[in-house]
Amino acid sequence: YQGTIIRSCQLPAETEDGYRVQVLANIELSEEVSTVINNGGEGIGLFRTEYAYLNRSDLPDEEELTEKYTELATIMSPHKVVLRTLDLGADKFMSYFGPLDEANPAMGLRAIRFCLKHQDLFHTQLRAILRASACGNVSVMFPMISGLKEVHQAKEALERAKAELTAEGIDYDHDMQVGVMIELPAAVMIAEILAQEVDFFSIGTNDLIQYSIGIDRTNPHVSYLYQPLHPAIVRSIKYVVDAGHRAGIGVSLCGEVASDPYCVPILMGMQIDSLSLTPQAIPGIKRILRQLRMPECKQLLKEVLHCRTVAHINKLVTENIYKKY
Ligand code: PEP
Ligand code: MG
Repeated sequence: YQGTIIRSCQLPAETEDGYRVQVLANIELSEEVSTVINNGGEGIGLFRTEYAYLNRSDLPDEEELTEKYTELATIMSPHKVVLRTLDLGADKFMSYFGPLDEANPAMGLRAIRFCLKHQDLFHTQLRAILRASACGNVSVMFPMISGLKEVHQAKEALERAKAELTAEGIDYDHDMQVGVMIELPAAVMIAEILAQEVDFFSIGTNDLIQYSIGIDRTNPHVSYLYQPLHPAIVRSIKYVVDAGHRAGIGVSLCGEVASDPYCVPILMGMQIDSLSLTPQAIPGIKRILRQLRMPECKQLLKEVLHCRTVAHINKLVTENIYKKY
């Protein structure tokens, strides 16, 4: 059985009736690349760059970061590598800055907010990302965007880094794609506006569920409320996918939802462009994808959008998709 999964994972990620979707990987360390390739991953949809900053007392410099990102981009080339800028704060701290004195760190100075406050650190990272873009198919992605101003500020910082590299005669991809993560309900609601500013969206459901349902994703007392198929979450994802597609940009999903067999048929019904998941989950999800048929996924989505409860949605997925297997 395991052998069948391993072999079939090198087949294209497409439904039984030929609808292609990209299956990418979420990684934290470059060492995970061999697992991604062996498991049939078609690129890196989320590189959590913060791990280069954790468990040390100093900050990585531009050379160290450039080397790390370049190695990854080169190994994966021509496949895409989406480098997310630092997502520190909340539950991830750098000893260099120490934990911040915040009553609600998850709602505090994290991710893009932290980078926009610490512009030097952000600038170093952006220069390294741009330098790596000369060696492969690199995109940059900003986490925890809550409004248009943050996108403008982040893009201005990117332009400053580009201008410097140009002046120094250092090569980079002038057309490097820029994306934002949709992780906050505010970002969902202004998806149409954000879509005008970027090349792609990546929906971070781990945080989107936390902030939409109002539950700390690390708190076991409320983990029973962490429901990916909550009607509010399904509607939010649909809203973002549609807004992205209307604006002509690709929409990916990189939260744990992308590796949930109950969510994947619904996401396919929305015509999501790519799924980015933990490398170990890729073979199983590809195997499911290859058995789905788009008319069934679209019909399922239609019915799911009328459901009032998670239980009803689960029942529909079981009856319409999984009863066959
Ligand atoms: C997410 O929030 O869904 C996500 C992929 O980012 P992280 O889990 O790193 O916060
Ligand atoms: Mg997140």
